[in-house]
Amino acid sequence: MTATRQTRRRRLTRRPLTRRPLALRPLTFRPLALRPLALLAPAVVALALLLQPAALRAEPRNLDLVTQELTAYHDSGAYAVELAEVDQQALQRIEHRAATAAPGAKLALVLDIDETSVSNWPDIVANGFAFLPNAPCRLDGTGRPSSPCGNNAWNGLAAAPAIEPTLALAKRAAELGVAIFFITGRHEHERAATEKNLRGVGYPAWQQLYLQPDKGPHLASAADFKAPVRARIEAQGYSIVANIGDQVSDLTGGHAEAVFKLPNPFYRIK
Ligand SMILES: [Mg+2]
Repeated sequence: MTATRQTRRRRLTRRPLTRRPLALRPLTFRPLALRPLALLAPAVVALALLLQPAALRAEPRNLDLVTQELTAYHDSGAYAVELAEVDQQALQRIEHRAATAAPGAKLALVLDIDETSVSNWPDIVANGFAFLPNAPCRLDGTGRPSSPCGNNAWNGLAAAPAIEPTLALAKRAAELGVAIFFITGRHEHERAATEKNLRGVGYPAWQQLYLQPDKGPHLASAADFKAPVRARIEAQGYSIVANIGDQVSDLTGGHAEAVFKLPNPFYRIK
């Protein structure tokens, strides 16, 4: 072994065992260096959403589930209970106003017809909640509408059953001398069938039945027809102590002391 090798080995074995601390580089924030990554972030998020499993993405409720819920709401009796609760509140209002009215006061009750005074549930179910205005409709041997069952044809059959708590309320209002006015989005050519239906299920005599004209300007909302009619009723000297309907558009526009909204998650009329 040469002297040079011996010297190198000696140097290696004599190396101290103490560890030198690691030299820490100071952390510095360099925004300019990160900017390209920041610019990529939206694309990364979009890609992640795209690759996300379908079950985790937000999407509208499945129509089949919604129709199951609506059917359960009706068939469980919850719908009937809520109808009765609202009509009971309206009845209390009517009875209070009748008991406290000045002699000779002309009190009025305004009722919508569909899903307020009569139920189209048989038609709704036959059509799977779809609105089919012009399809034919026939009743089967049990009195149920065939499928499909056109809405206009169904109205013409005058076969809609009563909304029972509204019928009871109307009978009580009549006993108290409160005049009954029907205001409906149905059209004038349906008057005879509508009157037949109302009488058939037992509604007491009404003061007037207002239907939309068969020909007229297109209205953005049913309220554009109904509110002016209520103003006409008031112009006859009546105080509308209660206005009851299943659509918001039955109730907006004023001209009633109190409004009562019945449930109807099955369809909407603007
Ligand atoms: Mg209605």
